[in-house]
Amino acid sequence: MEKNWTFPEIEYKRPNPDEIINTLKNHTECVKNAKSGDEVIETILSLDKELMPVIDMFSIASVRNTLDTTDEFYEKEQEYLNQKAPELAPYSIAFSDAVGSSPFRADVERRFGPMYFVNSELQKKSFCEENIPLMQREATLTTEYQKIMATCKIEFDGKTLNLYGIQKYFEDEDRNKRRDAYRAYSDFYRANETRLEEIWDELIKIRNQMGKNLGYDNFIPLGYLKQGRTDYGAEEVASFREQVRKEIVPLCEKLYKAQAGRLGIDCVYAYDEDRIYPDGNATPAGDDDFMINAAREMYHDLSPETAEFIDFMIDHKLMDLKNKPGKASTGYCTTFASRKAPFVFSCFNQTKFDMEVLSHELGHAFAFYRALRHQELSDMSNVTTDIAEIHSMSMEQFAYPYAEKFFGKDADKYRFAHLQDAITFVPFGVAVDEFQHICYANPELTPKERTYEWHKLEEKYMPWRKYDEDDDFFGRGGWWYHKLHIYLYPFYYINYTLTTMGAMEFKKKAMESFENAWNDYLVLCDVGGKYSYLNTLQMAHLSNPFMDGSVKKAITIARNILEDSIKNEKTIS
Ligand SMILES: [Zn+2]
Repeated sequence: MEKNWTFPEIEYKRPNPDEIINTLKNHTECVKNAKSGDEVIETILSLDKELMPVIDMFSIASVRNTLDTTDEFYEKEQEYLNQKAPELAPYSIAFSDAVGSSPFRADVERRFGPMYFVNSELQKKSFCEENIPLMQREATLTTEYQKIMATCKIEFDGKTLNLYGIQKYFEDEDRNKRRDAYRAYSDFYRANETRLEEIWDELIKIRNQMGKNLGYDNFIPLGYLKQGRTDYGAEEVASFREQVRKEIVPLCEKLYKAQAGRLGIDCVYAYDEDRIYPDGNATPAGDDDFMINAAREMYHDLSPETAEFIDFMIDHKLMDLKNKPGKASTGYCTTFASRKAPFVFSCFNQTKFDMEVLSHELGHAFAFYRALRHQELSDMSNVTTDIAEIHSMSMEQFAYPYAEKFFGKDADKYRFAHLQDAITFVPFGVAVDEFQHICYANPELTPKERTYEWHKLEEKYMPWRKYDEDDDFFGRGGWWYHKLHIYLYPFYYINYTLTTMGAMEFKKKAMESFENAWNDYLVLCDVGGKYSYLNTLQMAHLSNPFMDGSVKKAITIARNILEDSIKNEKTIS
C-alpha cells in the first residue's frame, strides 16, 4: 500500500458480491481439506487479508454518503450495498461452521482467543435465511429515517439550520430564544410525526418477526445477541436501571435545582437544561482549526501513544469535523481495517460539543488504532460497544486537565458542565433502553400509546423534566423521536450508561495515579474484542456494573466533585 495516502484520495471500487462469495467458498473448502491446525490458521488469516480491502469499500461508501447526503452516486451505492450485504451472510457462516467443526478447532482457539468461536456462534444464532428480506426492509427504513434527519431544514433566527445547527441555540443567553429554538426543534419532529410513527411501527413488527423466525417470543433476545452480549441479559440490565433510578436520579434533581438558583429562575425547563451558567457556557476559544490544533497538542502531551496516533490521523486526513450543508447530522468513528486506519466524522457547531467530539470520537479512534495493531484478525479489533464507549468516555475524562487549551478562562465551566452532563445523561440513557424493551415486548401498543410510555419514563427517570406549556408534542412524550439509536441501533443505548461507570472509575484512577490509569486504559484498548465483556473489564481492573452497589461506588468521585461545587459554586478539577 502506498505510504502517503489520504482518505479523500482513496479510490472507491464497488465490491463484487460474486467475488466475495467465491472467496468465502474457496476458503471454506481449504478449511475442510486442511491437514493441520497451522493450515486452518493460515486460511483464516488469508481470508481476513483478502476481505479487509473489500469490507473497507463498504465503509468508504457509507462515509462518503454521510459526508454529502445529496451525492446521488454514494446514495445509490449505499442502497446497493445494503441490499447485497445480507446475502453474503450464509457464506460467511458456512466458513465459520467449517472452522468450528474442524478437528483443529482447539489450535484456532489457542491462537485467536476464546471469543473467536463465541462470535461465530453468535452470528449463527442471530441469523436465518428467512430474515434476509426483513433485514433488507429494515435497512431501507433506517436509511429513510436518517434521510429525514439529514435533510432537516429549520428556519430560525434568519437562518436555515439543520438539527445540529438549531441545538446551538439551546445554550443561548436569551431565554426566549432558547424556548423558541426548542419549540422549532419540537415542531420539526411534530411535522414528521406520521411518517416517523409508521417507520417505527414497521421496524418493531419486522424486528419482532426476525426474533420469532429464530424461535424467540420477540426481538429482545435477538437484539441482545446482535449487541454481542454473551455474559449478561435483560435481567442484569433491568437491575442496573434500578440502581440508576435510586442513586443518580436524586443527584440530578439536586443539580438542576442548583442550576435554577444559578440562572435566577424558579425552575429549569427543558430549554434551560443546556444553559448551565447565567453568563454563558464555556465556548471554544477559537475557530474550528484552532480546536483541531488544540487537540493535536493535547494528544502530543498526553502520552507517546496518543502523539503517534493523532499525527497518523492528520497525515492521512482521517477526520472530517466541520459542518457543511448536506452532511449527515451525526458523529461517529469507523475504520478501514486494511489500512489500520480509523476515521472520525462530525459536524462542529462552535460549542463545547466540539471538544466532546475531539475527545469522545477520537477516543474511539485511538482504541481502534491500538487494537488494529495488536490483534491479528481485523474482527478482533471490533469491540462490543459496552466496552468501546469506555474507550471514548474515558478519553473525555483524560482530557479534563487540557480544558484550558480549548476554552481558555472558561475551562472550569467546561469541566463542571461536562461532568454534570455525564451524570444527568445516565437516567435519560436508561429510559431510552427501557422504552425499547416496552415497545418490542408490547407490539400491540398504538404509536400514540408508545409516545405516552415515553412520557411515563420521563416521570420515572427524569422527574425534573418540564416542557413549555404550549408544546403539547414534547409534553405528551414526543421527545424520544430525536434519539436515532432507537431507530438505527436497537439496544445499543444502555451501553453508554454502563460505560459511564467505567469512565468514572478511570477518572478516579487518573486522579490517584495517571500512570496506573493509563496502563489499564492501554490494556483495555489493545485487547480489542478478544475477550468477553466481564473478562475485559477484569483485565483493565474495572468493576462489574451489575453488582449491587456498583453504581453508587462508581459515581462517588463525580458526586463529591459536583456536590462540593454546587455547595461552594467554585471551580473544579
Ligand atoms: Zn461513542
